[in-house]
Amino acid sequence: MGYKELADLIFPEAKDISYYEEKYPERDLKEGAIVTRFAPSPTGFTHIGGLYQSLVAKKMARQTEGVFFVRIEDTDQKREIENAVSEILNSLAEYDLSPDETLNEDGTDKGNYGPYLQSKRKDIYQAYAKSLIEKGLAYPCFCSQETLNEIRENQEKAKQRTGYYGKWTRCRNMPIDMAIEKIKNGEDYIIRLKSPGNPDKKIKHKDVIKGNIEFPENDQDVVIIKSDGLPTYHFAHAVDDHLMRTNLVIRADEWVASVPLHLQLFSVLGFKPPRYAHIAPIMKEDGGNKRKLSKRKDPEAAVSYYREEGIPKEAVIEYLMNIANSNFESWRKGNKEKPLDEFKFELNKMGVSGALFDMVKLLDVSKTVISTFTAEEVLNYVLDWSKVYDSELYELINRDKEYSLKVFGIERGNVKPRKDISKWSDAKQSIIYMFDDKFKESNEEYEYQKITDKEEIDKIVNTYFNEYFDINDDKETWFNKMKDLSEKLGYAREVKEYKANPDGFKGHVGDISTVIRVKLTRRANTPDLYEIMKVLGEDSIKMRIK
Ligand code: GLU
Repeated sequence: MGYKELADLIFPEAKDISYYEEKYPERDLKEGAIVTRFAPSPTGFTHIGGLYQSLVAKKMARQTEGVFFVRIEDTDQKREIENAVSEILNSLAEYDLSPDETLNEDGTDKGNYGPYLQSKRKDIYQAYAKSLIEKGLAYPCFCSQETLNEIRENQEKAKQRTGYYGKWTRCRNMPIDMAIEKIKNGEDYIIRLKSPGNPDKKIKHKDVIKGNIEFPENDQDVVIIKSDGLPTYHFAHAVDDHLMRTNLVIRADEWVASVPLHLQLFSVLGFKPPRYAHIAPIMKEDGGNKRKLSKRKDPEAAVSYYREEGIPKEAVIEYLMNIANSNFESWRKGNKEKPLDEFKFELNKMGVSGALFDMVKLLDVSKTVISTFTAEEVLNYVLDWSKVYDSELYELINRDKEYSLKVFGIERGNVKPRKDISKWSDAKQSIIYMFDDKFKESNEEYEYQKITDKEEIDKIVNTYFNEYFDINDDKETWFNKMKDLSEKLGYAREVKEYKANPDGFKGHVGDISTVIRVKLTRRANTPDLYEIMKVLGEDSIKMRIK
């Protein structure tokens, strides 16, 4: 009996691999087009690192008129979680990172290279495993867990590398007849690669990000098909990325040590290997040390965190781009208004060690991004966010949208737009004083600055409103009146006038306008006071000075 009989006994139903080779032909794309993918396991949790990887992958595909697809790696069926697939796809969609090809919501496939769900590809893996068994390049292994433990103990005693390889294997050289008999007797088995590698030899490989790397050849007879008939990650990677015609594998650098095995699998299967780009993980500074951003310890590791905090997707993407490519920041400085698509992303400009994730910097980027939004965009975003996360705010801005629009429009759309909002959860704090009922309800302390004397404050406020204030003034007139008021009450018209002669005045025009500002808003720091007064209107102003 030969390998063919063994293979037929193990996978009687499997098709010839030529069927799949024809079904999934080379893609008809222009020269240099990158076909790449994001291949998450459905854990129910989308890590910001996954978004980062997808951003890079989609960008590379776009730039080269290639294809970005998502394949769901659900071969570890113990970890399966309900709705996990839609969680991943919805998160990507939320950030405009939807793939060209993937699984649809209803389980059908979008794209011609599916199924994009690994558990539906069992037949395919088995066909390729069968082809290896037929050629004597893979074999059934009957070793129990106890046997494997025993092998490991012996290796440890002998101070040898652990694993299932070379002289330590038990089933690699088992006579075919014996294997057939065991299978017929119903013994349990898995399928292993019969590794042709020699660890005394080195393989050289050029990673697109990490550059030249050198590893010993793989000689481990790794499992390729598990006892449940599903493939291991390694085998599925080779079969899927070959059949889906991936030509650039962009993935986390925890896999870089598996490159020798993966290249070997591509070689025994007769496939052309893809190029690899291994991305370093996003890091965080913790007590002076750098460590990976952790799902367990860091709330910001979850993509859902940004939604809850109300950090807009544009800001998150802009920030990720910042840490992904060292030259992005300077490009952005010179191209403030340009869409991200115009930035040419280069994989070899990605850091080899992990980029540091800095929330302060992200919020700073977010402030700038939000400052470029129109009042309408801000209002719509805040409505969407508050509807889910802050009903008080939602009620406040939804009852008179026209007014809310004016509030968000203060100091927006000009050369130096307001930058006091870095996330939607900040928005309430920045606008609440503009709403009369909230202003009345609030028992916030007035934070007067330099001028604190009650009588002096009353005098300033009364003189201003009795003698100068006119809601219809234009900005220049308004400002000149502030100066006139200052002069009348013994304050300098200009700050520099005061500075030149501090003993000659009680203060300056800035101190006067602060009093008016605090009276009207209870804040010492607000956007432009003139604009605020225009939006508040006469009635509200009168109510506030009483
Ligand atoms: N499912 C693997 C993971 O989540 C995919 C790795 C890859 O991109 O090949 O780590």
